[in-house]
Amino acid sequence: MTFKYKMIKFFFLGTTAILAQDPFFKSEAGTYWLSTDLHIHTVFSDGAVWPSIRVEEARREGLDLIAMTEHLEYQPHAEDLPHPDRNRSFNIASGMLGEDESLKVINGSEITRDMPPGHINAVFIKDANALLHSDSLSGIQEANKQGAFVFWNHPNWDAHRKDGIARLEPFHKYLISNELLHGIEVVNETTFSEEALQIALDNNLAILGTSDIHGLTGWAHNIEKGGHRPMTFVKVSQKTPAAIKKALFERKTLVWFNDLLIGKKDVVSELVKENIRFGSPKYPEDKTILNVEVTNEGSVPFHMEYLGEFSFHERATVFSIPPKTTITLKIKTEERKNSISLPFRILNAVIAPKKYLKHEFVVK
Ligand SMILES: [Zn+2]
Ligand SMILES: [Zn+2]
Repeated sequence: MTFKYKMIKFFFLGTTAILAQDPFFKSEAGTYWLSTDLHIHTVFSDGAVWPSIRVEEARREGLDLIAMTEHLEYQPHAEDLPHPDRNRSFNIASGMLGEDESLKVINGSEITRDMPPGHINAVFIKDANALLHSDSLSGIQEANKQGAFVFWNHPNWDAHRKDGIARLEPFHKYLISNELLHGIEVVNETTFSEEALQIALDNNLAILGTSDIHGLTGWAHNIEKGGHRPMTFVKVSQKTPAAIKKALFERKTLVWFNDLLIGKKDVVSELVKENIRFGSPKYPEDKTILNVEVTNEGSVPFHMEYLGEFSFHERATVFSIPPKTTITLKIKTEERKNSISLPFRILNAVIAPKKYLKHEFVVK
């Protein structure tokens, strides 16, 4: 999101709480890339703010859906906030929403255990209180009974893994083979785990990125200066929580983390095709230098590496297209061509550990 765009949004927020957001990423007609943050804390567990602040942050940052996921068992503010009802954070946050508001809030819980299994988030739950159990498995089973989408949080967390390497324990393998675990955080807060990404690919888990925010998102992610929190995007044809839930279960997810887009090849490729648009090429005068405009429709810069045989008139073969910006490529084709195929590697589109998306753009 550009700074200018954000200023406009702040201005309108003063006059109306609900307005159509400019989407982060363009998609073909009738479909949407919706943004979610499925891991959020408040004073109702170990966070520093009241739930209303989470709704205000999400509105300002243009999110489509957030999940309130307080630690079930870890309650450091219990003396001040006894918190007998573990749904309270969700009830306060969701109670703030206007009837036609685009932002949605769903109920969740962070089932907080030692490793294994570590911390497990359940979102789209019906009743957080029913997840409280003395053993590690029963809460996860109960969440599944409630139809929840369940994922493994920060499997690379250095409090649980001194080497920062995410790896499966037999407990996780049991959860996966019994379809009790559906996703894994590949990005949590400020960390990215290639090992978690490989686990997701090997075990068909949804690839997720979350803020796990405890303080303020503005401070944690430099949002005033154009930063953004980690988000998970889903592709849907309806802007409803039910459609988002379905996309999560179908593993149609993609993470936006700093400048990186991380996901399965088919999902990342879909977003790249919809957000990097080549215009119609022209040869000026009698020259054989092909001019073509390239537009980045998205909110992330695209870092491009050209893999073909030609050279460019004004650039090296590695360059970036800033968000919502058009640049001109001048390609020295030596002879005039009616159509040309331009193979690129998108250096910030991660489709596996150390593997970046290749895509061939055909220009006519
Ligand atoms: Zn945690
Ligand atoms: Zn957490």
